[in-house]
Amino acid sequence: MAAWCEHCDRPVEGDVCDVCGHSVAAAQREPMPWRWRFFIVVTVIYLIWRLYQLVSWLSH
Ligand SMILES: [Zn+2]
Repeated sequence: MAAWCEHCDRPVEGDVCDVCGHSVAAAQREPMPWRWRFFIVVTVIYLIWRLYQLVSWLSH
């Protein structure tokens, strides 16, 4: 999996960009923020709930 250099806006093979020398290893290892996970979980639950409502409405 190639990392991405934010500075050059190009994919980088390895830990250091060979164009600008910027280290891309830290950005690659950064975990997903918990707020994003929470938002995704809430969105999925909401969609499942809406789908359930739609199915129960159609079946009546
Ligand atoms: Zn770069």
